[in-house]
Amino acid sequence: MKTSVDRKAKPPIILVTNLLFSLTFLAAVVLVPWYGVSHGYEVFDWIMLVVILMFNGTAITAGYHRLWAHKAYKAHWSLRLWFALWGAMAIQNSIMHWTSGHRRHHQHVDDYDLDPYSAKRGFWFSHIGWMLRSYDKEVGNFSNIKDLQKDPVVIWQHHYYIPIVLAMNFGVPLLIGLLSGNVMASLLLAGVLRLVLSHHCTFFINSLAHIWGKRPFTDKNTARDNGLLALFTWGEGYHNFHHVFSSDYRNGVRWWQFDPIKWLIFSASKIRLTSGLRRVSDFRIEKARIDMQFKRAGQKLSCEQALANLEKQYQELLEALKEWYAFRQQWLEGKAEELRNQWESLDMRTQYEELKSSLKEQKGRWQLALMGQLA
Ligand SMILES: [Zn+2]
Ligand SMILES: [Zn+2]
Repeated sequence: MKTSVDRKAKPPIILVTNLLFSLTFLAAVVLVPWYGVSHGYEVFDWIMLVVILMFNGTAITAGYHRLWAHKAYKAHWSLRLWFALWGAMAIQNSIMHWTSGHRRHHQHVDDYDLDPYSAKRGFWFSHIGWMLRSYDKEVGNFSNIKDLQKDPVVIWQHHYYIPIVLAMNFGVPLLIGLLSGNVMASLLLAGVLRLVLSHHCTFFINSLAHIWGKRPFTDKNTARDNGLLALFTWGEGYHNFHHVFSSDYRNGVRWWQFDPIKWLIFSASKIRLTSGLRRVSDFRIEKARIDMQFKRAGQKLSCEQALANLEKQYQELLEALKEWYAFRQQWLEGKAEELRNQWESLDMRTQYEELKSSLKEQKGRWQLALMGQLA
């Protein structure tokens, strides 16, 4: 445990990241608008900014994060190469550095010293401050990503990281500029503004997604679910879910939750670019949600009878859920073909209707118990 005196002694500044973040930010807020007013941008320049932003965002989210850091699915080498190139363009360090740090973030989430971007150190630190000084003593210790060091794409990107970063960040906007006939406009929008937007949207996941939002699955860490943030982070705003079920390829687990990366990974599996998609069972997800409701209600209710009833309803709801999901799983997997045939039979349909209505009734009782109204 470090003392507060140790913590006050700040480690040395990392010049390259300070220059990168400050100069690009300055250019984005001064040069970009100045050029827009004095020369103007074409619609094509704006479209390309969005396209490149999307390529960078998906490479970091689907590639760096869900594929490499969490192994939530497998990807064909061509897709991995695509992610390695566009991910390097986002300038968030190599896959090896990024994933190693991120796995430590999950392992030691909120720990002041061991979580590299601990939210307990404030918004600024978790957003960007952690990269401005050499706070992280574990940089370069790749013992937690030995599995990734078997991937030639990962190794190649790590070795040639700087040349790839330069080639992508100058080459791509230059090419777009040559196509449109306005290199300066392209360098400013697809180059500078795109990089700054891409940086801060990702950084919000470490800062805002640990501060602002709800905690439906766990309150043991600061991670939050925030549907609004998901809009700016390619679906990564469901961060409370993610910290509990990090091996799941989805972050927004409900079908309607905005998580374009889960749709991308799922769609890519249909053309065999991705495979082995990992999903946590619906029962486990629902149970985590109910456990949290149980915990919160238990803290609020003081009447003993209400508490006893809450406990009873909790057990009964779990039982009803277990039966429901077991039935559904059996049905989905179509374990026995006759099961589908049985559907026509009255037995099967009656069982379905009964389970469905008893779960609905139990959910109603649960809601009343949560409010202490069933005592
Ligand atoms: Zn986190
Ligand atoms: Zn993660």
